[in-house]
Amino acid sequence: MAKPSSDRQRRLARLPAVDELLRAAEMAPLLAAYPRRLVLERVRRQLALLREAILGGRLAGEEPFDPAAFFPALAADLEACLAPRLRRVVNATGVVIHTNLGRSPLPAAALKQAGEIACRYSNLEYDLDAGCRGLRYDHVEELLCRLTGAEAAMVVNNNAGAVLLVLSALAAGREVIVSRGELIEIGGAFRIPEVITQGGARLREVGTTNRTHLRDYAAAIGEETGVLLKVHTSNYRVSGFTAAVDSRELVQLAAAHDLPVVEDLGSGSMLDLAAYGIGDEPTVAAVVESGMGVVTFSGDKLVGGPQAGIVVGRRDYLERIKRHPLNRALRIDKLTLAFLEEVLKLYLYPERAAAEIPTLAMLTLPAAALRRRAQRLKRLLLRADDGRGRLEAAVRKGVSRAGGGALPLVNLDTWLVVVRIEGCRAAELERTLRAGRPPIIARIEEEQLVFDPRTLFPGDDRLIARACAGLPPR
Ligand SMILES: *Cc1c(COP(=O)(O)O)cnc(C)c1O
Repeated sequence: MAKPSSDRQRRLARLPAVDELLRAAEMAPLLAAYPRRLVLERVRRQLALLREAILGGRLAGEEPFDPAAFFPALAADLEACLAPRLRRVVNATGVVIHTNLGRSPLPAAALKQAGEIACRYSNLEYDLDAGCRGLRYDHVEELLCRLTGAEAAMVVNNNAGAVLLVLSALAAGREVIVSRGELIEIGGAFRIPEVITQGGARLREVGTTNRTHLRDYAAAIGEETGVLLKVHTSNYRVSGFTAAVDSRELVQLAAAHDLPVVEDLGSGSMLDLAAYGIGDEPTVAAVVESGMGVVTFSGDKLVGGPQAGIVVGRRDYLERIKRHPLNRALRIDKLTLAFLEEVLKLYLYPERAAAEIPTLAMLTLPAAALRRRAQRLKRLLLRADDGRGRLEAAVRKGVSRAGGGALPLVNLDTWLVVVRIEGCRAAELERTLRAGRPPIIARIEEEQLVFDPRTLFPGDDRLIARACAGLPPR
């Protein structure tokens, strides 16, 4: 590095010492509001920035230290340090189960019960009738059995954990037979072949990428077979010349050899969405009814609950799964359990589930309601522009997505609001809205910013209009 000029050295020397800054009058409110060690850390950081600027020749003036700039910058920096990092955002993308945006928003009605469980003691693992230790899934097992028709149920941290646990408990040291067309990777490095290996089992692939027949499974069954596994291909589809074995046929084959048959449903729908004209996925109850030994699915995809891995199936298999040591490592948290119980209870009244579980309410929104919402958002946007005519908004037909690997081929018809603001490129608008408070996440289609009302909560349209009124920022 070149030797800094003596001029720069002289200016460096004029920077105040940390002690001196801490005694400054401007510092008193900051020291009162923030932890001292954090203030110290940020003062050092701000000084380091000044030093870098001087050495880089970016601070020209004779006096390098300006209190009128330094203290407000320090205050802003301190505020940013303690602002929550995990924040609510406005999801205007129309992707309902958006894994990056927290998947399923929970019904607000569940909050009271969950809050009480969170902030007080509970009977999490206590049998109040017997006055002795109980099991944490007891609270939802009966409900899950009633809703799915299964003999037994349990829940763990997430569905990836559920699949790992089930295979560890039922197939360790043996082979897991899976169709080549189902050896999938889900986002976040969840790969079926690796999960099988992690579970201490061996993968036995059958069939081909596009076609697998019952005879392929039958030919692979032998002394070493532990489990027949069926996996929902979620966010991927092979189309064209294809063949797959359905659950019922696989169940019969497994029964003939007295082998467990497991299905990883991924999303697992508890409501018959086909009845709403959405996709043709069988419900969890239908899969259980087909005779599947064990079925696993996520709590926060189509179920619309908290992050969880739900396992339902035959009592004898579930006993083995519950006893496996990995179960302890994957156990569900009390807050999750409290929310899950409240969400599952809503399914006892299917029409309430569809209306009150946000994920389902958004998925089943009729096009007419979406159109009204889009028109309202457009009006709010134009009003916020206040006749200046810098903002153009139009409503047009579009498509929303279920997301989360659920219903990948289903186009959900929607009405979009397309926005253009004079002197502001779509990418720039998108970035500015994303940096807002709260951040607004929108979609860009064909170089235009679009908002999909499907995933908006009441009041979100006002937030969007307010944010757009301030664009482009000065
Ligand atoms: C989403 C998904 C998983 C993982 O579930 P998480 O609850 O996210 O852990 C596993 N298998 C399939 C088929 C999935 O779609």
